[in-house]
Amino acid sequence: MSDITLGIIGSGQLGSLLCQAAKTLKVKTIVISDDEHGPAQDYADQFIFSKYDNKDKIKEFAGKVDIVTYEFENIPVEILNQINKEKQVLPKPDINKVIQNRKLEKTFVNDLGIKTTDWAFIKSADDVKKNEKLLPGILKTNTLGYDGHGQFVLNSLADIKKDWCFTADYILEKKVDLKKEISVVIARFSNGETYAYEPIENVHKDQILKHSKIPADISPEIFQKAQSNAKLIAEKLGYIGVMCVEYFIDQNDNLLTNEIAPRVHNSGHLTINAFNVSQFENHIRAVCDLKMKPIKKISNAAQMKNILGSEIKEFRKKSYSDKEFFFDYQKKEIKDKRKMGHLTILEG
Ligand code: ADP
Ligand code: MG
Repeated sequence: MSDITLGIIGSGQLGSLLCQAAKTLKVKTIVISDDEHGPAQDYADQFIFSKYDNKDKIKEFAGKVDIVTYEFENIPVEILNQINKEKQVLPKPDINKVIQNRKLEKTFVNDLGIKTTDWAFIKSADDVKKNEKLLPGILKTNTLGYDGHGQFVLNSLADIKKDWCFTADYILEKKVDLKKEISVVIARFSNGETYAYEPIENVHKDQILKHSKIPADISPEIFQKAQSNAKLIAEKLGYIGVMCVEYFIDQNDNLLTNEIAPRVHNSGHLTINAFNVSQFENHIRAVCDLKMKPIKKISNAAQMKNILGSEIKEFRKKSYSDKEFFFDYQKKEIKDKRKMGHLTILEG
């Protein structure tokens, strides 16, 4: 079908699932990663183990591929720019630059007239004091956060004294009294065509996604608004590929944009079994400029459950029905809270 070679930066489970989708489209994959044991190497046509700042290796990687994408957003923008000079990187590096920086991301979203939590940019304890109205709040490192890393709850000014200090830039967000969390995964193609999957309802524990389901238990207004906001964001970014918008719904049914992920997303894992075209296939199709395929929902998904740490052992022993789909990421090492696999259960 194609003779494209796609370069993928990053070798975690998202990389594995992208490689598997690429294979069905006859797209070759070369994965580059600084994780020697990254599971995506088992699914890629070629694997390059390298630090991301190794210019020679990056050049070798770029020389071998036609187009480059990434499975995680915290890649230094300079590296993406360096690669982009030789081969096109999608999503574009300047999009990544905005999204990996919470201040730029929230400013961009607010400028589109889309609501987020109330927030402020913070450089010092004094800045927190000036923004006391945002407490109780959550202080988040401005860059490099994921799965709750780099987040501190501040119930009052007294909490500033805790064992961390202002060595980085932060944003302070007002803590939202959450009714629900949802996400919209959206694919956008180079001709401007988009497909937004229906909103997915998500439950987090300790800031890590615990489970997801469709349909989300939300009003038709929120359903529509969540999709139209995601579409507006993708259009204004000139986005090509799959991205995800995470939302909070507060007790007064306000829809607040939490963050944007410029990549396939954990909550979208259920699209593998619940739709004829998964988020992974859509991402490959979009970045490789293959046509969008008509997308149909096959089934509701009662639950997509993330399997963390040593929980994986019991899931490996179970047997599953034809409505249950167990994915084992085959990670070499079991670590506490590490995403080891997932189970999607379609509605019976
Ligand atoms: P990460 O980049 O680590 O995914 P998020 O900002 O998405 O960080 O936060 C992870 C989770 O923490 C959210 O999905 C939500 O459950 C909780 N959380 C984050 N910010 C807030 C907030 N302002 N109010 C309430 N809950 C929050
Ligand atoms: Mg998040």
